[in-house]
Amino acid sequence: MNALLQVEGLTAGYGEVDALTDVTLHLSGGEVVSIVGANGAGKTTLLSTLAGLIRPHGGRAMFRGDDLVSMPAHARPQNRMALVPEGGRLFPFMSVRENLELGAFCPRARAGKTARMDELFAVFPILAERQNQMAGQLSGGERQMCAIARAMMSRPELLMLDEPSVGLSPLMVERVFETIRALVARENLTVLLVEQNVGEALEISDRGYVLDHGAIVQGGPAEALRNDPKIGATYMGL
Ligand code: ATP
Repeated sequence: MNALLQVEGLTAGYGEVDALTDVTLHLSGGEVVSIVGANGAGKTTLLSTLAGLIRPHGGRAMFRGDDLVSMPAHARPQNRMALVPEGGRLFPFMSVRENLELGAFCPRARAGKTARMDELFAVFPILAERQNQMAGQLSGGERQMCAIARAMMSRPELLMLDEPSVGLSPLMVERVFETIRALVARENLTVLLVEQNVGEALEISDRGYVLDHGAIVQGGPAEALRNDPKIGATYMGL
C-alpha cells in the first residue's frame, strides 16, 4: 500500500507508563481521517508522538517513506507536516498577521509567505478583517481559524488537528469543520483529525478509527462508524 502516513505497532506514553499501545493506522493522500475517542483515550498522545514531541517506546511511523521516529520535531514543517495543537496556542500579544507569518518560518515556506497569506485570507475572510488585531482578542472560533491558517502557512501535505471543536458553539464547530473540508478541496491536503466530538468529526471524514484506552478498537469508513449503534450509544449519546 502506498500510504502517506503509515503507523505500525506504535507504543508511547509518559515515563514508564504507556498511553498508547500497538497503534496501527494509515492515511492515504487526500483523505480526511478521524481518530475518535473519549477523554483520556490517548488522542493527544498519538498526535504528540507523530509531531515528534514524545519519543515512542516502540513501533514505527513513516511519513512519505521517511522515518518519523528519528526526525526532530522542528524538521516537520519543512517536510510538509503541520500540527494544530489543542486550543490553538497562538501568541496572544501578537497580531493575527504576525501569528500567520510565524507559520511560514521554515525555509520552504518563507519565500512565498505574502502570497500564501493572501490565499489563506480568501479562505478565512474573518482573519483578513482582523489581521492587525491581537490574537488574544479573537473569539474562540476565530482563534481556532487563526491556528489552522497559521499551520497552513507552511503549505503542509498532512495537517494534524487536535480537537479543533473544543469550547466552541455548535455553529462555530460547523464553520470550523466546513473550513477544513474547504481546505481539503482546494489544496492537496490530507487531514488527521483527533476529536471527542465523534458525530461531527465523522461527518467530515472519509474514514475513522476509534481509540479506547490507548488502543485502536475499531476502524472503517466514516459513514459505517457513524451508523454503528454501539458507537452511537458510547460516543454520541444516541
Ligand atoms: P482528552 O480528550 O482529554 O484530551 P486524549 O484522548 O487526548 O484526552 P491523552 O491526553 O493522550 O488523551 O491522555 C492519554 C493518557 O495519558 C491519560 O491517561 C492521561 O492521563 C495520560 N497523560 C497525558 N499527558 C500526560 C503527561 N504529560 N504525563 C503523564 N500522563 C499523561
